[in-house]
Amino acid sequence: MQLARRIQQIPPSATLALNTKANQLKAQGVDVVNFGVGEPDFDTPSHIREAAIRAIQEGFTRYTPVGGILELKEAIAYRFHQDLGLAYTPAEIMVSCGGKHALYNLFMVIFEAGDEVIVPAPFWVSYPPMLMLAEAVPVIIPTRQENSFKLTAAELKERLTPKTRGIILNSPSNPTGAMYSQKELAALAEVVLKHNLTVISDDIYDKIRFDGAPFWNLAMLAPELKRRTFVLNGLSKTYAMTGWRIGYAAGPAQAIAAAIKLQSQSTSNPNSIAQKAGVAALLGPQDAVAAMLSEFAWRRDDIYRRLLDIPGLSTSKPEGAFYIFPNFSAYFEACQPAPGQTYSQYLAEYLLEEAQVAMVPGAEFGEDHCLRLSFATSRERIATGVGRIKEALAKLGE
Ligand SMILES: *Cc1c(COP(=O)(O)O)cnc(C)c1O
Repeated sequence: MQLARRIQQIPPSATLALNTKANQLKAQGVDVVNFGVGEPDFDTPSHIREAAIRAIQEGFTRYTPVGGILELKEAIAYRFHQDLGLAYTPAEIMVSCGGKHALYNLFMVIFEAGDEVIVPAPFWVSYPPMLMLAEAVPVIIPTRQENSFKLTAAELKERLTPKTRGIILNSPSNPTGAMYSQKELAALAEVVLKHNLTVISDDIYDKIRFDGAPFWNLAMLAPELKRRTFVLNGLSKTYAMTGWRIGYAAGPAQAIAAAIKLQSQSTSNPNSIAQKAGVAALLGPQDAVAAMLSEFAWRRDDIYRRLLDIPGLSTSKPEGAFYIFPNFSAYFEACQPAPGQTYSQYLAEYLLEEAQVAMVPGAEFGEDHCLRLSFATSRERIATGVGRIKEALAKLGE
């Protein structure tokens, strides 16, 4: 059967594919250290799970309003106001089946075919394919490692055309862990306002920050920026709730209503039980979040130190999220990529086979010099895995 062009033009999610491969090896009895995972290794806190059990027992098991129950929207609005000082009404909030789904809905309703959307690289793997599904054109702007892979106003200006409609920012970043300061955002804001760009601010890691630096997004800088920004967030990363599939977006009411209309014709409401759990997550005690954060912070310091101990590697220190994105290009001379394979893909394959360590090649994020390691894995696995990488790199090309 001939499949539609729209699906033929996009690849499957590379990060999910790699995770599958690592799990297959594990099932065969191979002792794989999996640095590929993009989800917290903690269980969902117990008071959240209990809220879900209560919802089932109370029979909260029917369709809900398409864009989420009011109670959850109010809890989301409360957190936005409490944590970021951002005021949103329930009409400016959409709850979807994960942050990814909220993004997809938004792209489908705010971009017209042929609209150019700025995506700074390294980028989260799903942005370009999702934009393509919406018939928009991802305009990838490479950023520099010296600048912790953050986009500058000058780099942005250079790539604007009359067709540029939007920009996606992700801070703290997956895959680099870099976080934009208020000052860096203010510089970008000038360009955004001057050129009337719509902003997608993917804040999914806003609670996972290590050095006490304050969190900022463009919507927080000025009312005229908030009016053109969609803030994307969800429960997956903050509350270790990846399987529950609750994410949300906040922004101008007219566009949010349109995105909910799309949702009404595709998935309908997100899971009713997970929504009740979401209320408990957002309004309940936040100490489980603090505990996860302090463990991530310990691992961040540890993996950073261990990686820098490997000759030839360089990396910036992640300020947030649970990824580190070292540059392996000192080893590329000893690599022999197959036709069509990039250096980071070759190296990821070599390290999986030689050292049984799974990592995501930087090529998947638009930056081939690097590989992504997730430190959402135990202290012991981090020590073992980085040790194996060091040994295998020493043997490379022998
Ligand atoms: C994990 C992630 C998301 C969304 O995850 P969901 O589980 O769909 O909520 C969005 N953006 C980035 C950068 C992510 O890493």
